[in-house]
Amino acid sequence: MFIEIDGWMAKLRFSACHFIPNHPKCGCLHGHTYAVSVRLEGEQIGEFIIDFELVKGIVNGICDRLDHKVLIAEKDPRLRIVKKDGVSIEIIESKKRYVLPLEDIMFLPTKSASAEDLCRYFTTEMARALKSNGADNIKKLHVRVDEGIGQGAGCEYEL
Ligand SMILES: [Zn+2]
Repeated sequence: MFIEIDGWMAKLRFSACHFIPNHPKCGCLHGHTYAVSVRLEGEQIGEFIIDFELVKGIVNGICDRLDHKVLIAEKDPRLRIVKKDGVSIEIIESKKRYVLPLEDIMFLPTKSASAEDLCRYFTTEMARALKSNGADNIKKLHVRVDEGIGQGAGCEYEL
């Protein structure tokens, strides 16, 4: 069996900005409202497979870390990230130079801030949270991160 939560309908959303280095359009700093939809497969234990509220709490917790932040992929080989003074940061990419307040940035442990890499980030963080909440009956996790309505990236993870 499985449960599904639609991120748009259930308000599992966040707004953030990012850029995709060297991309003709997405290379400029721009923003999205993202929604995170999930599907969890596993055995039903008692009344539930898993409590919807627990799942929404986990997803919202991750969304909150990213909400209203500039998403920077700290493993992106196209970026040179110079942490300056503990207050601001300098990011150099090709001929562009961004200087941003550190408090506005969420560093992702990824190589890109694409929907695909964001999806992987959510999946990994969710798997960790499910484990620490003892949800051992969940065997498969599907996550889709939409960049606005109508387009998104999905992945699945065996637990
Ligand atoms: Zn974008």
